[in-house]
Amino acid sequence: EAHLARIEAVDEKVHAFLHVDREGALAQARAIDAKREKGEKLGPLAGVPLALKDIFTTEGVPTTVGSKILEGWIPPYDATVTRKLKEAGVVILGKTNMDEFAMGSSTENSAYGPTGNPWDLTRIPGGSGGGSSAALASYEAPLAIGTDTGGSIRQPAAVTGTVGVKPTYGGVSRYGMVAFSSSLDQGGPCARTVLDAALLHEVIAGHDELDSTSIDAPVPSVVEAARNGSVQGMRVGVVKQFAGEGYQAGVVQRFQESVALLKELGAEIVDLDCPSFDLALSAYYLIAPSECSSNLARFDAMRYGLRVGDDGTKSAEDVTALTREAGFGDEVKRRVILGTYALSSGYYDAYYGSAQKVRTLITKDFEKAFEQVDVIVSPATPTTAFPIGERADDPMAMYLADVCTIPSNMAGNAAMSLPCGLAPEDGLPVGLQIIAPAMKDDRLYKVGAAVE
Ligand code: GLN
Repeated sequence: EAHLARIEAVDEKVHAFLHVDREGALAQARAIDAKREKGEKLGPLAGVPLALKDIFTTEGVPTTVGSKILEGWIPPYDATVTRKLKEAGVVILGKTNMDEFAMGSSTENSAYGPTGNPWDLTRIPGGSGGGSSAALASYEAPLAIGTDTGGSIRQPAAVTGTVGVKPTYGGVSRYGMVAFSSSLDQGGPCARTVLDAALLHEVIAGHDELDSTSIDAPVPSVVEAARNGSVQGMRVGVVKQFAGEGYQAGVVQRFQESVALLKELGAEIVDLDCPSFDLALSAYYLIAPSECSSNLARFDAMRYGLRVGDDGTKSAEDVTALTREAGFGDEVKRRVILGTYALSSGYYDAYYGSAQKVRTLITKDFEKAFEQVDVIVSPATPTTAFPIGERADDPMAMYLADVCTIPSNMAGNAAMSLPCGLAPEDGLPVGLQIIAPAMKDDRLYKVGAAVE
């Protein structure tokens, strides 16, 4: 009730939520209370409220993915993440705002209007999961869930002063998580502290036979790691390519202070060179749109949500075209066109094929790096939160918000962003990124808890 009251008080301004499930949340909470009174066994997060990114299906509760094309669609089933949350006793407060189909870095691409950054409502809360991070930063929810295809958990965490983790690819089930770029998409925990993120991580992670890319191995012990933060004797890498032009002075300053702190706490700092990282952004903007053009073909006006022009006089093809024209926003259309082009015969090898080769080089650069270090650290984003509207008409400037986060999606390893202070020039939060090898998610929490 306290969190629902907080949402009522501030969300008109913040706009973190697309849908508040007041009745559902209260019913869930009452059911847990009843269980407790009867002395029944409760889940590990019984009664803890959470804000769920509107990309996860929720049975009987609207799921829009920030798009008009799914307006009015009520999913008949729960995503695996949703199911696991419910089983753990988590109370789902509602669904959070996001860039349409998770395409963006500012939440400005939502068809339902932007979200404000609670630190300064005229600035972006990051994206695509800006609603989830804003809900945490404004104390509307203590826990949230995001998805990270190129940075959509870590970048919003960085610019809102919260913690966000992209687990190892395959660590958290994608079943019922609306697909953007299937080989990159990964759901993960968002919270205000490293330990809270770990507690949530263990609830949502684990093998799921409904997702063919789900890893069939035990979940790394992230809670234990978060309770025992230490970097004593660890080798920590600093990559040359995560610096230079476009990085804000205050972000660099706080990052360097974090590196100094790591050293002081007993870590050995190792300088690394990963030349392929400079190509990651360009390769991502071929691979992600290619996969999205294929994934979004299912929105054909026949299966879900919106249907435009169905007056009995038009062909099915026309209805599909009219619906997609009306239902998708500019950024989604830009990516579908880009991806369709990159995958077309005659161009496939030149674009998609080359991008896949770059992806292999990035994976190899990480493999070489992790022969020398246990974790890598970098700024999570090159700048602090920028003003709403500043990059809206400049896709390239927007894409640059993810230069530090994208390499990990390409390689499928684990990464976290956590707060490391405020930039002196604007007083806004700066995020420190920690990257660990695949299936070593526990290292993120061990290091994160040490420097938090
Ligand atoms: N900002 C990146 C993009 O627009 C990443 C988004 C994401 O991680 N979902 O694709």
